Amino acid sequence: MRPIKAAICRAFGAPLTIETLHLRPPGPGEVEVTLGAVAICHSDISMAEGAWNQSLPAVYGHEAAGHVAAIGPGVTGFAPGDRVLVTLIRACGRCPTCAGGHPTICRTKPGDGDTPLFTAAGEPVHQGLDTGAFAEAVVVHHSQLAPIPADMALDAASLISCGVITGLGAAVNTARIRPGETVVVIGAGGVGLNAIQGARLAGAARIIAIDMRADKLEAAREFGATDGVLATGDKPWRAARQIAGRAADAVLVAVGSPAAYDSAPRYLAPGGRLVMVGMPHSGQTARYEPMSIALLGQELRGSMMGDTVLARDIPWIVDLYRQGRIRLDELISGRWRLDQINAAIADTKTGAARRNVILF
Ligand SMILES: [Zn+2]
Ligand SMILES: [Zn+2]
Repeated sequence: MRPIKAAICRAFGAPLTIETLHLRPPGPGEVEVTLGAVAICHSDISMAEGAWNQSLPAVYGHEAAGHVAAIGPGVTGFAPGDRVLVTLIRACGRCPTCAGGHPTICRTKPGDGDTPLFTAAGEPVHQGLDTGAFAEAVVVHHSQLAPIPADMALDAASLISCGVITGLGAAVNTARIRPGETVVVIGAGGVGLNAIQGARLAGAARIIAIDMRADKLEAAREFGATDGVLATGDKPWRAARQIAGRAADAVLVAVGSPAAYDSAPRYLAPGGRLVMVGMPHSGQTARYEPMSIALLGQELRGSMMGDTVLARDIPWIVDLYRQGRIRLDELISGRWRLDQINAAIADTKTGAARRNVILF
C-alpha cells in the first residue's frame, strides 16, 4: 500500500478534506500513475454535491495527467516513467459498443466498483468516476490511459483528459460537423470552448456561442466563435438566426442546465442535429415537442466524453496543440495546490473560471 494525500468527500455539499489514504498496488490490467496535474471539472462539483446519487466516502477528480509509476500483470504498451493522460474512459475493448468503436459507452467495464483506495483504518473509499484523481497518485485500468510526448507540460495535458475531448469530440465525432455548416454552442465554459474549437477545425462557416455572461462570449471568440448571443436576452434563438441568416445545422448543449436544454431545439434547422453534452442532475428533465422534432426530421443525440477513442483521437489533438492550431494553455484560469482545492472549487462555481488546475 502506498500512502498518498487525497481530497476526500465525506458528506455531500461539505468541503473536501485532505487526508492520507492508502493506494493498493496495480492488479491485473491496471496501472499506477503518479499525477502531475488534475483539473476541476463541473462533473466533480456535481458529484461532491450528490447530484448523481453516488457512494461515500469518495475521491473525485478525473481530468488528469502524470507519469506511470508501476504496471500490473498483463499490461503491455506502458512502462514506468511514461508520461500519460488519465481519463475516466474505462473500456473492455470487447463488448458490442467497444467493438463498434464507442468505448465511452462500454457495457462491461472491467473492475467496476473494485476500489484501490482505502483509509488508514482500512475502510474502502469510492473511486469517483473510476479515477479518483484529486490525489497524488491513482491506480486505474490501462484502457483509461493515453501516452503523451515526454516534453508536454502536464497542466495543459490534463485538460485534454475530459473537457477538451468532450467538447472537440462532440463537434467532430458526434455532431460530425461539415465545412460550411452553421453551429450553435450553448454554454461557453471549459467544454463549450472546446466544442467551438472543434467546430472551427471541422470548417463550420458560422459558430454562434450562447452564454449568460458577456465575458464568456468574448472568450468564445478567442476560441473560434464567429458570433455571440447573450442567453439573458429575449428569444436569443431569433438573434442567432438573424446573425447566420438561417437556423443551425448543429446545436451543441455544453451546460448541464435544464433551461438550456428546453431552449436548444429552437435554434435548430430542419434536418439538424441536437447534441447533448452537458449533464443535468439525476431526475431533471427537459421539455420539447416531439411533433416538431418529427415534422422537421431532426436528430437528438447524446455525446458521452465526445465519443472519444483515445488511441485514435489523442495523437491528433496533441499534434494540433503543438502546431498552435488548438488552444490548451489559454483554458487554464488558475493553478492551485491540493490543499487549496476547496477555494479552487468555489472559484469554478462562480462561473467566471475556465479551468482551474491542481498541480502536485
Ligand atoms: Zn469531466
Ligand atoms: Zn466494452
